[in-house]
Amino acid sequence: MARILIAGAGIGGLAAAGCLLLAGHDVEIYEQAPALGEIGAGIQQSANATHVMRHLGVLEALEDMAFLPPVTEFRLFDSGEVLQALALAATHRERHGAPYLQLHRADYHAVLAARIEALKPGCIRLNATVTGFREEAGGIALVLADGTEVSGDLLIGADGIKSAVRRRIAGANRPEYTGDSAWRLTVPVGRLPPGFLDGKSSIWVGPDKHAVVYFLRGGSLLNFVGAVELEERIEESWTQKRPWTELRADFEGWHPDILTIVDAADRDACYRWPLNVHPHLESWSAGRATLLGDAAHPMLPYMAQGAAVAVEDGAILARALAEAGSIPDALALYERHRKPRARRIVDESRANRRLFHLPSEAALRAAFAERNMDRERSDWLYNYNPMTVEL
Ligand SMILES: Cc1cc2nc3c(=O)[nH]c(=O)nc-3n(C[C@H](O)[C@H](O)[C@H](O)COP(=O)(O)OP(=O)(O)OC[C@H]3O[C@@H](n4cnc5c(N)ncnc54)[C@H](O)[C@@H]3O)c2cc1C
Repeated sequence: MARILIAGAGIGGLAAAGCLLLAGHDVEIYEQAPALGEIGAGIQQSANATHVMRHLGVLEALEDMAFLPPVTEFRLFDSGEVLQALALAATHRERHGAPYLQLHRADYHAVLAARIEALKPGCIRLNATVTGFREEAGGIALVLADGTEVSGDLLIGADGIKSAVRRRIAGANRPEYTGDSAWRLTVPVGRLPPGFLDGKSSIWVGPDKHAVVYFLRGGSLLNFVGAVELEERIEESWTQKRPWTELRADFEGWHPDILTIVDAADRDACYRWPLNVHPHLESWSAGRATLLGDAAHPMLPYMAQGAAVAVEDGAILARALAEAGSIPDALALYERHRKPRARRIVDESRANRRLFHLPSEAALRAAFAERNMDRERSDWLYNYNPMTVEL
């Protein structure tokens, strides 16, 4: 069994650690933050990720704290007309063998972190910033900011879009701004009219922007993402607190349900995130180092798949190590299997930018009339089971 070092204790790093610990490897995670945690926003996880949660033994705990939506509707920004619907809840579970969950990120992250700590106490090292790595005879040494080196058999860079491991594998490249920024906020449902949106998730599409609305924590909290085209490039800063009036102005003229959410938002907690990506990477690995999640394939969040694909990566990497005879063979198998799927999801997420932001009601109606999102996503996206798919 291998000694495996992971940079980053995000959802991707934790899920990979769980799969590798269950496979019998010795794992250590190095996380730059002084404390574990995630931001106060929602996340959707479809069956392609929740199969892995079942394998990790946390699916029941997650279901208890999630919201399981009946459906996601695509709606026109102003009239609210429903253009299409994706069947979720029982249909998603029946079709794909695992549930579609809407979770608070902090809950999701805490459940995963607790599971890792139970599998190997002390496995997660905090205040540990990875700056790079060095190949050494028969192994690899991870280098920390304080100069400490830690030896292992394999290093996994799960350190997100600004990954130091990626920089070492692929050379320096800064994340590129996509031209879109996302407002993210949550609203307690007590502030909304009774029965608001009937618990349905919705994606509201309109000229130059779209909004994603769904419920969390048993339906007690509503999550709102407002993705807007915004050419001004925001340097370096990850998140920016912006005046509520800017949020309100961005959605002026939109459906009353959207304005109800915006009006119920905390005035002093409106954050806008620039959405950044990297170009496709030719190779995710170098020697005994590899990447997963946003470090390997950051994407626009327009299919709600970034973390799900990170979770898939970890499960497949653990299986590749079990199937291949050596670490180089395992990394080759991992990349061969993962790259085409990750690339497709990155590309389709980007293509949704165009689809969701078409310039008129007529163009949106016509484009949605040509698609069957429910069938498309069921056919190849949600029906992928990382625990059983052929490698
Ligand atoms: C608006 C929005 C909505 C989204 N909605 C969804 C959704 O519904 N479903 C979904 O699946 N995905 C969604 N995503 C995508 C998802 O958030 C990301 O793809 C996912 O969080 C990536 O996980 P990760 O573990 O790869 O990276 P990260 O979450 O970025 O974690 C990286 C970790 O590494 C640590 N780190 C960084 N550098 C270092 C270093 N040098 N040394 C040590 N540690 C380091 C960081 O502190 C962090 O803990 C959304 C994204 C956005 C922006």
